[in-house]
Amino acid sequence: MTDHPRIPLAGVIGSPIAHSRSPALHNYWLRRYGIAGHYIPMDIAQGDLREALQMLPKMGFVGLNVTIPHKETMLGLADIVTDRAALIGAANTLIFRKDGKVHADNTDGSGFIANLRQHAPDWQPQAAPGVVFGAGGAARAVVAALIEVGVPEIYITNRTRARAEAIRADFGAKIRVVEWVQAGAVLEDAGLVVNTTALGMVGKPPLNIPLDSLNPGALVNDLVYTPLRTEFLDNAAAMGCATVDGLGMLLHQAAPGFERWFGHRPDVDEATRQAVLGA
Ligand code: NAP
Repeated sequence: MTDHPRIPLAGVIGSPIAHSRSPALHNYWLRRYGIAGHYIPMDIAQGDLREALQMLPKMGFVGLNVTIPHKETMLGLADIVTDRAALIGAANTLIFRKDGKVHADNTDGSGFIANLRQHAPDWQPQAAPGVVFGAGGAARAVVAALIEVGVPEIYITNRTRARAEAIRADFGAKIRVVEWVQAGAVLEDAGLVVNTTALGMVGKPPLNIPLDSLNPGALVNDLVYTPLRTEFLDNAAAMGCATVDGLGMLLHQAAPGFERWFGHRPDVDEATRQAVLGA
């Protein structure tokens, strides 16, 4: 260890990592608040993670974001795992503590809710059921967050039914599993509909669930943010639904890590969105 103050470093680890928007976001915030620090994308192979977690704090790193495919593995490598990260089964934010311990958290769920609150302040979570398409890591974060804010019932549907069943087993009685081919049938009473699948992303097929019975009073959200306006959001908007894109979740999930590493709670506002979109 050195005895003089160091410029704090943070970064995002994944593989591949070149597509990540996190460096543009964090480096924008560092510039905006005049903070001396750096945020670096790092492509690290699975087999090198343990060594990286030992070395990076010695090199001045104060924490990391974690993305695909390391989010699940991180739970087994961290010294302290928050309850919500354990329940979700994945970590996206690491803090390298001064005592040498690695603290792992998952801020995807709180970022998801903060995005909805910011862009759809009239949404009342307790008023009607939620419908979640997909049952991967992002779906688990979304389901945990929906239960926390009091959504009374959550219908979940996934191409691979077993993953949806696993979510029901982990999250309990509020979860109802629906066959993928019958997904359109539960939209009538929905207060919120969320796409957590990768469908609709650039390079993937669109999400083709029929929206004919979609409640026009439902709030519709897509976690996909490349493109920003997915076909799914456009179709829901054409039915009269309020829609929220997925970029805000990315911005909000990043804020707690930035605050812990660099000591300043960043604003998530239009200027932040534009900085990331323009990068
Ligand atoms: P994941 O764990 O790999 O899960 C992928 C999900 O997409 C699964 O439900 C999978 O179904 C489904 N899927 C993939 N290809 C499909 C296809 N051809 N047909 C039907 N279903 C398909 O990934 P994840 O971490 O949950 O991420 C999912 C999406 O959310 C990604 O697009 C990611 O970029 C986005 N995301 C956004 C944010 C944000 O901040 N906005 C945060 C996290 C994730 P199966 O189980 O049947 O394979």
